[in-house]
Amino acid sequence: MPGTDEERNDAAAGASVAMISLAEARQFVLHGLAPLAPTTLTLEQSLGCVAAEGVTAREPSPRFANSAMDGFALRAIDTEGGSVRLWITDAIFAGDLASTQVGEGEAMRIMTGAPIPEGADSVCMREEATVDPDGATVLIHRAARPGEFVRLVGEDVTVGQGLLEPGSDVGPALLGVLASQGVTSLLVHPRPRVGVLSTGNELSNADGPLAPGKIRDSNRPSLLASLQQSGFTPVDLGTVGDTAAEITRAFQRGTHECDAIISTGGVSVGDADFVKSVLAELCGENARSMQVAIRPGKPFAFGVDPSGTPFFGLAGNPVSTLVGFELFVRPALRLLAGYAELDRPTISMVLDCPLPRRRDGKLHLVHVMAKVHDDGRIHVEHVARQASHLLSAIAQSNALAMVPDGDGLDVGAMVPATILDATHLNGV
Ligand code: AMP
Ligand code: MG
Repeated sequence: MPGTDEERNDAAAGASVAMISLAEARQFVLHGLAPLAPTTLTLEQSLGCVAAEGVTAREPSPRFANSAMDGFALRAIDTEGGSVRLWITDAIFAGDLASTQVGEGEAMRIMTGAPIPEGADSVCMREEATVDPDGATVLIHRAARPGEFVRLVGEDVTVGQGLLEPGSDVGPALLGVLASQGVTSLLVHPRPRVGVLSTGNELSNADGPLAPGKIRDSNRPSLLASLQQSGFTPVDLGTVGDTAAEITRAFQRGTHECDAIISTGGVSVGDADFVKSVLAELCGENARSMQVAIRPGKPFAFGVDPSGTPFFGLAGNPVSTLVGFELFVRPALRLLAGYAELDRPTISMVLDCPLPRRRDGKLHLVHVMAKVHDDGRIHVEHVARQASHLLSAIAQSNALAMVPDGDGLDVGAMVPATILDATHLNGV
């Protein structure tokens, strides 16, 4: 390896100038990665994680037959023909047990969730009964069917039923199911802890006025937020200048704290682009500086160091950074988290505005605003001004369209796209 930063950099850049496809770049990133080793977390902590064990039901649910309504527990046979008067013998609340049975000609007040008393086989809802003024009897308006408004034992879950397979993700409803079974902890793949490092001599973290030539760091905040939003644990590794020594130190520090590291800047062909050479040095054969046939985000470096920590060197332009996160980082981190589905779904959208482009051998990733229309389809209503430094233009978008190489797409054509934020898909 040559001696100076510049020499190392030129060597790393010279090694790979040919453009490669997005698929090949993703394959290079994904092929060597594996889910993080499972660990036991509390049920609350495991929300959003992928299970590394299966869970089968140890209790039926419902645990006992109970009422689906506030009303009267009774014997259906006593109400044949409808409009019958029954004696009220007791009231059962959720959490209680009836002290006696329901006998012939009798009814008990019952609340939703209370156990069905012995003798009763049906519940008449409160709205279909009239209690007599003295409170001793009740008029049941219509004939009750056996089993009506009775929730049966094991209707939802039977003992031994599979509740969770290894590889399934833990969502709020499943978490509730497990809690209802008395499960308090779970073996899961942990949420990846991901370090974010900005590189660039021009970056300043000052709050006040900036010195001439300096800019504020926008990549680190937007990446930390992207990580958070996708369910990973962000770790702020700060900002370093454009020297191989500073970048190396920051990477090495990150390796100890993090399961993966993202840097921005310094992967292009400029004289101060040292991330590539640092990755080559730290990761050897397992590093590659790529020119990917995409726009934006063409320069991209990736490596895995001997400790197994993956490093993503994203291009520094703010829009390139976010596209690189979406195409390379997010899927790789989902793999580490144990997910089988790595990408957001691709949806075919109707173009309400043209997507012009020139033929350049690249796939163009275009930020757009998409909405669901009355025809039930998703339409692209607006295309953000596109350039890799125009961050505010894409802040108003909610989807990323993939425009294949060629002369662009006209109004009415279909374009494949992924929804980045579904919040405003339906409205304004
Ligand atoms: P680079 O990839 O280092 O060549 O940077 C490409 C462009 O992105 C330059 O205009 C940088 O000033 C800008 N840039 C790099 N890092 C950041 C950052 N963290 N925040 C905002 N802009 C950045
Ligand atoms: Mg730079």
